[in-house]
Amino acid sequence: MRRMHVAVGLVALVLNSPTAGAQRGGRGTPIPAGEACPAGQTEIRPRTCMAPEAPAPNILDYRPKSTLVTPVHMVPTAKYPAIDFHGHPQGLLGTADALGRLGASLDSLNVRMMISADNMSGDRLKSTITAVRASDRMKDRVRVLAGINFQNVGPGWAAKAVAQLEADVAAGAVGVGEIPKSFGLSVRKPDGSRLKIDDPELDPIWDACARLKLPVFIHTADPQEFFKPADYTNERWLEISLFPDRRYPQDRYPSFETLAMERDNMITKHRNTTFVVAHMAWYANDLGHLGKMMDDMPNMLTEVGAVLYDIGRQPRAAHDFFVKYQDRILFGKDSFQPEEYPYYWRVFETNDDYFDYYRGYHAFWKLYGIGLPDAVLKKVYFQNALRITPGIPQTGWPK
Ligand SMILES: [Zn+2]
Repeated sequence: MRRMHVAVGLVALVLNSPTAGAQRGGRGTPIPAGEACPAGQTEIRPRTCMAPEAPAPNILDYRPKSTLVTPVHMVPTAKYPAIDFHGHPQGLLGTADALGRLGASLDSLNVRMMISADNMSGDRLKSTITAVRASDRMKDRVRVLAGINFQNVGPGWAAKAVAQLEADVAAGAVGVGEIPKSFGLSVRKPDGSRLKIDDPELDPIWDACARLKLPVFIHTADPQEFFKPADYTNERWLEISLFPDRRYPQDRYPSFETLAMERDNMITKHRNTTFVVAHMAWYANDLGHLGKMMDDMPNMLTEVGAVLYDIGRQPRAAHDFFVKYQDRILFGKDSFQPEEYPYYWRVFETNDDYFDYYRGYHAFWKLYGIGLPDAVLKKVYFQNALRITPGIPQTGWPK
């Protein structure tokens, strides 16, 4: 009697299931070759789809714990003193007390030098440099990049911009940047047209940077997925859903490719100016393309801020890229969160497998160490920045 009951129950379950009546003797629903399973189902055998018994969790709630047991090498401090070329130490440069706190954080990470890329100019730049110089502890550990004001680009703009840049350099600026992503994306000329990155009216300022030996640190565009529809095939769906202002709908913004082309035109046209392209030009997901850019534009360097998720998911290709272009990659962190730096050290310095990234909404995958040789680490951490930036104190660094 009891047995009967179970059998009847099973039949009821099968009949109620959406996959009832599927493949002979098997489970699931067949689909034609070349088609994907419908939403809510997954392919359990070739061309056979099935839904899980329990409701599937959403991507926020699915947090599986890895069972992989493998060597772990945490790296709280960089192996060699680092220069953070992409610093945004907001609020930590203004007073002796804040500078002291910045120094303590940097010491704990072995970051010796913070380059402030906060686009400062004029009085703000002067007062920041005055505060840094007044700090015995930090006066040799912070340098500041100058900003360029791209409003009202037209006749007379360049002469004014060059004069301001010269004044900022006289006040102590050691480079230019971070030229923000709004340049190219949204900044307009007085006639209402978009200010293109390769606009010839800007030529005098890039030439001045060459003459003054100032590296130009430039952020152009954003991850390619931000320019694409926010559908479920978008690798950055979670981020652009959390932060809708990071989307660039193509009816209102230039394409990623247009911005990249304009930037490359500008770099190519100004061979004597050194450009440091932030965020690996948003091509860390295509190192072949980035390598071609490096080959075509010898005056271009690049910086690794905020793209660790792409470096760490391709450890062999990234290792080879860093070795090949070891003279032209700079360390930079971007957003100043001291607890996030050790993820960079671990990716660069170890061969660890399959470990967490620090920001789940950037990347739902794991990272791997790329195990860079010491000579490459030294170049990426400080030697390349020293070479292209004469204004950084050049003494006291390891051989
Ligand atoms: Zn930045």
